Amino acid sequence: MDPRATVLRGDLLVRDGRIVAVGPGVSAALAGITPDADYDAAGCLVLPGFVHGHLHLCQTLFRGLAEQSDLLPWLRERIWPLEAAHTPASLAVSARLGLCELIAGGVTCINDMGTVRHTEAVGNALEASGIRAVFGKALMDRGEGVPEVLVDSARSAIDESLALANRFHGAAGGRLAVSLAPRFILSCSEALWRDVASVAADRGLPVHTHLSESPGEAREVAAAVDTTAARYFATHGLLGKRFVGAHGVWLDDEELALLAKSGSALVHCPGSNLKLGSGLAHVRAWRRAGIRCGIGSDGAACNNRLDTFQEMSLAALVSRVRNAAAGAGGPAAPLEAHEVVALATCEGARALGMEDAIGSLEVGKQADLAVVDVGGPHHGPSAQRDPYTALVHAARASDVRLTMVGGRVLYRDGAWTTLDPEAVVAEARAERAGLLRRASLAEVA
Ligand SMILES: [Zn+2]
Repeated sequence: MDPRATVLRGDLLVRDGRIVAVGPGVSAALAGITPDADYDAAGCLVLPGFVHGHLHLCQTLFRGLAEQSDLLPWLRERIWPLEAAHTPASLAVSARLGLCELIAGGVTCINDMGTVRHTEAVGNALEASGIRAVFGKALMDRGEGVPEVLVDSARSAIDESLALANRFHGAAGGRLAVSLAPRFILSCSEALWRDVASVAADRGLPVHTHLSESPGEAREVAAAVDTTAARYFATHGLLGKRFVGAHGVWLDDEELALLAKSGSALVHCPGSNLKLGSGLAHVRAWRRAGIRCGIGSDGAACNNRLDTFQEMSLAALVSRVRNAAAGAGGPAAPLEAHEVVALATCEGARALGMEDAIGSLEVGKQADLAVVDVGGPHHGPSAQRDPYTALVHAARASDVRLTMVGGRVLYRDGAWTTLDPEAVVAEARAERAGLLRRASLAEVA
């Protein structure tokens, strides 16, 4: 995933957490040295670890509890009551459960939006897991149907975010970063948006939010602020190189131009958009406008997989349909497999402003990588002929053999090094039962 889209046969050498040689250079770099450890990836693809651009680890415990719903009733009737019932313990295991799945699926970096309270529990889980992450507490100071415990004052929303930043921004050897995460237009007052813009600029923190996700949301946004989300963000100084917006399904050309001109990034979540019936995002148009783009699964309550392979496949397929629907004279060609893999690796890293450190297997970059076995029958007869197509259209998360972050192995041949999945699943069951009792949602258990 370097700028020349190089595919090499050979070895990769890691030292002190970074890539020091790739392909032909490895034997020279290893002359006279016995490595501390090696991994035989013969017959596999070795690729940059996936960058997962939009996610809510706080919702992993809600998997399967919020089905057959559109965005706003899904939030008001299920997700917010469940988030309101989280304790630090339930939130921590929700994060660990999601991290087990992500790490085993080759994900090495995530951009997470938490819930309103107890976000330090997510930070601690991220730190212990070994994954690279940007995360922030959801900021909400207003909104119809929001439980009282999820409504902060604008002041405390910002203060708590800054306390998180003081503790976690740059922590774990630079693996962790903290964002300001105003949830979406309908949950934040104008005063809060203004504070987010000024604090993000002062402190150099990323801004992570949702925009233009569903038609019902667009109607309520228009009623609340008399314009669209992207235009509102532009007038309130939110857009810019630190801005990462999820979904963007219904953005018009003028909004795409605003996002592109400001250097903002968008994250495509095709699985969530399909399952909530939100619509088909037009990623070709995003890319043509010059917007930095990533890909993500959104939370486990609206997907329900946290699986980059699934999202890549859906992104390619949605792009085919979106293009066909536009008809002759419509937009340019659908996304190619190579472009889709880029969304999940180098372009995803660029969307988070981390392209100098991660996103490709190049000398000097962090050793964040995944080893994917393409020897199974579902890859036959030969995945090697076109590795991009194999990754997007045939590979599964269960094909991942090894996941490494900064040179540290987090997952290898079915075993996690920092997480105990059996214990996590057992704890998750118990915590979910408590969560449902507190949320008075026993009927959906
Ligand atoms: Zn989301």
